[in-house]
Amino acid sequence: MATNRTFTMIKPDAVENGHIGAILEKISASGFRIVALKKTQMTQVDAETFYAIHNERPFFGELVSYMTRGPIVAAILEKENAVADFRTLIGATNPEDAAEGTIRKLYATSLSENAVHGSDSDENAAIEGAFHFSGREMF
Ligand code: UDP
Repeated sequence: MATNRTFTMIKPDAVENGHIGAILEKISASGFRIVALKKTQMTQVDAETFYAIHNERPFFGELVSYMTRGPIVAAILEKENAVADFRTLIGATNPEDAAEGTIRKLYATSLSENAVHGSDSDENAAIEGAFHFSGREMF
């Protein structure tokens, strides 16, 4: 499998709870190379755009206010089979269903406040990475 990229965010709950360092350490220890990294805060329009696929879902308003209430850490990560391996590393969307040792099992507080984002396809990884980073911020 060729080396490829995924996109992640350490979400506001995990930042508030002081888990940035532990999550980045786990990501690095799992073989992902950090291509781009920054602490930032999404505006309402940012979050509505980023999660537009969910805009008809009942949790959309709650998701937008959660994702904009404080800073996040955004990153582009590189590894063989990056998208699928990162989804395995973070675990199921609901931390109650996430496997032991996964980032969501360790650090998420609920289905809605689940500590991290991971892209679900190569196509979305490219779109989401470009949403947060310019080419000059990728190394
Ligand atoms: N989410 C939620 N309620 C739900 C499903 C999802 O609040 O019933 C939130 C949660 O933060 C999740 C995000 O919406 O991470 C995006 O949902 P998706 O189904 O794409 O899950 P993911 O790909 O993040 O595992």
